[in-house]
Amino acid sequence: MKIIVTGGAGFIGSALCRFIIEQTENQLLVIDKFTYAGNLDSLAPVANHSRFSVKVIDICDAEAIKSTFSTFQPDAIMHLAAESHVDRSIDGPHAFIETNIVGTYVLLEASRNYWYSLPENKKKAFRFHHVSTDEVYGDLQGIDSLFTESTPYAPSSPYAATKASSDHLVRAWSRTFGLPVIITNCSNNYGPYQFPEKLIPLTIINALENRIIPVYGKGEQIRDWLYVEDHARALYKVLTDGRTGETYNIGGHNERKNIEVVRTICHILDEIFPNEKGGMTFSYKELITFVTDRPGHDYRYAIDAYKIKNQLGWIPLETFESGIRKTVQWYLNNELWWKKIHSVHHCDQRIGLCENK
Ligand code: NAD
Repeated sequence: MKIIVTGGAGFIGSALCRFIIEQTENQLLVIDKFTYAGNLDSLAPVANHSRFSVKVIDICDAEAIKSTFSTFQPDAIMHLAAESHVDRSIDGPHAFIETNIVGTYVLLEASRNYWYSLPENKKKAFRFHHVSTDEVYGDLQGIDSLFTESTPYAPSSPYAATKASSDHLVRAWSRTFGLPVIITNCSNNYGPYQFPEKLIPLTIINALENRIIPVYGKGEQIRDWLYVEDHARALYKVLTDGRTGETYNIGGHNERKNIEVVRTICHILDEIFPNEKGGMTFSYKELITFVTDRPGHDYRYAIDAYKIKNQLGWIPLETFESGIRKTVQWYLNNELWWKKIHSVHHCDQRIGLCENK
């Protein structure tokens, strides 16, 4: 198969590319604008492979997308490009509207026109796989249940609202134009190569640099965590074995309060990289600092991943305990990767926002 991966230089996109190049025989073309979140270093393990190539393209650029489709002739597109950080969507929603909504529309139109031109056998096999989030379902505060594929949409943040919009567009292009689409909605990812503005890498890096570890509110919010390599495997499984027109929820059944996640990281670091100063040992937990909560902060997300398990046989390979340990170790072993990001971006360590210098 020839597959286009949008946003392949980001956190999940790069994990997906590493998985596909290393574990399959498919040919990949990454389309990425290389915003602050796109990083060629995350693709280093596969960058020189003959089945792998990258194009610097904004998904909102209809002409560039159209010509890429006609030259590459993909069998499938996996759409991950997005503005993905909730705090940034509160500070400046415009880029989220552009990339997440308009960009998805541009890709759908390019896919539709290209798909119409394909011979019957190729037309049937073509897939538009849209990668989305559990945040479209809203908040489970006071509700003792899980998000299923039929949970009504109720997004809270500008980020979640733009992802919900893009999901609706994808379904409309399937229903109205017959485009063969699949949507996946996944819970919070963590793992290697995650940009240091997100909770887990921010906690690890701030601890290693002896800075405060900021936690919103009282850290009571609950998220359902999935190791990024499990997500990459799930995405490929859905692309190859999933049914068109269907939605699959992906999650790890690993619900944790944010404060528990932060304490677990501190505990692992205390054990494998003790914080020693002047002959004394300090726990990294002393760096935890509660900060004013994010406006509109959802209390709980939790995914029911029953459908993908039962219909496609996918289950996560990592538990939260094994995955978080691997992740902490990865950031310890790959200081160069994150230090380079810190030298290019100026990071506000309180909430993790980074700006280009
Ligand atoms: P990320 O921010 O790490 O990466 C996004 C990538 O998209 C970057 O490489 C960036 O350069 C690229 N990009 C942004 N705007 C673009 C544009 N206009 N044109 C082309 N490329 C552009 O994001 P991520 O965490 O890897 O998330 C990938 C996808 O998965 C997103 O669609 C996100 O909504 C979804 N998702 C993320 C999570 C999570 O926990 N991170 C969970 C569920 C779903």
